[in-house]
Amino acid sequence: IKRIALLTSGGDAPGMNAAIRAVVLTAAACRIEVIGFEHGYIGLLEQEYRTLLPQHVHNIIQRGGTILKSARCPALQTPEGPKLAADNLQQLNIDALIVIGGDGSFRGALEIARYYDGQIIGVPGTIDNDVDGTTNTIGYATAIDTALDAIDKIRDTADAFERIFLVELMGRHSGYISLAAGIAGGAEQIICPEFSQITPKDLRQITTPIQHAQLLMGKASYIIVVAENSYPGGTTALAEALTKAIGIECRACILGHIQRGGSPVGADRILATKLGAYAVEALQQGAHLQMAGEVHGEVTLYPLAKTGDRTKAIDPYLVRWQQQVGSY
Ligand code: ADP
Repeated sequence: IKRIALLTSGGDAPGMNAAIRAVVLTAAACRIEVIGFEHGYIGLLEQEYRTLLPQHVHNIIQRGGTILKSARCPALQTPEGPKLAADNLQQLNIDALIVIGGDGSFRGALEIARYYDGQIIGVPGTIDNDVDGTTNTIGYATAIDTALDAIDKIRDTADAFERIFLVELMGRHSGYISLAAGIAGGAEQIICPEFSQITPKDLRQITTPIQHAQLLMGKASYIIVVAENSYPGGTTALAEALTKAIGIECRACILGHIQRGGSPVGADRILATKLGAYAVEALQQGAHLQMAGEVHGEVTLYPLAKTGDRTKAIDPYLVRWQQQVGSY
């Protein structure tokens, strides 16, 4: 391998810069040239790229976002998109492509692979942690801490005002951030797609524990962490329905994109460095259509095609504890 290309795609995540840095430094040590496409797959389709040398990744390990920018790229999902992407890689003499992103970005990579002769490897970068083949994704640990900081602050005002707050956290269709931040924030309830079935017709799963808590403890504040996409109409609609159902004011707080930003925590910088470096090493050993992940602390390869299968369990021990004990 003489020349590799790198891009960051899909939702950005803290630690993507640390992964870029690790790829560039590792490749430089192996005398491999690196180019970076800008704006995810858009840069690949429009040949918007730059050479990445060690000096370009100096002083970025602590920075949130991604120096290469990220984007969603509908053009790759057109019939001509993947072939054009492959042609551009071929024309630029790229021996291998590294995609840092989530499972959507990996699906895009698989489409390109149908026309491309070189190797492709993925590095899991998303705050949602919804990628199979790695215990944690790059950005997840930082997002937990960001959400936790917000929950702690909301707890202060909820306590002072004796209110019920519903805090909506990101996760697309998964509850990893919500379970982790909810547990760490001492949330009375956690609503996630994996273990909550709440419909406008049946709110008992939420209202019964609230009523118990009010009766038993007379709690001043009550925090319900809600993973996005857990309730039809959204978390604001859920807050309104609950207010009606129990006669106590429930407020929704949608945390939103704050969760994607910020300086990556140490765990994300370390994971990003490990997986970025491993991706380059694995390519040299011939890896193709694999994702570089970490399981039980060890680097590992996992088929790109299976990264979106959603078989990774959400911690069953914590789920059980939260449901049986945490809401008291
Ligand atoms: P993430 O990587 O964070 O899961 P998305 O699901 O938004 O993000 O996917 C990122 C990009 O990957 C899309 O904008 C698109 O360019 C590309 N992509 C996703 N799915 C496909 C597909 N089936 N075919 C081609 N490209 C795809």
